[in-house]
Amino acid sequence: MDRRLMHASIQMIESYCPVRLHIGPSAGATCLLCGRAISAGALQYDIGVGRSTIIVDENCYMSSLRESVEATPLSADRPLRA
Ligand SMILES: [Zn+2]
Repeated sequence: MDRRLMHASIQMIESYCPVRLHIGPSAGATCLLCGRAISAGALQYDIGVGRSTIIVDENCYMSSLRESVEATPLSADRPLRA
């Protein structure tokens, strides 16, 4: 994994609160962090930050991005809590 890219991605996520997170089956995208193809049907994590979207596979999300994403106060895909 490219550590600089990972660091930049995490910073980007943290500077946009909340980020938009969409989790769904991949149509065959490439993971931004490790550069590996996400096989069709495997879970793909789309993290919307500003105008760009960071697409990562489950492995990279869980190991690197999850804490940053879930530390944001709320996500557009989650219902607002009263
Ligand atoms: Zn990856």
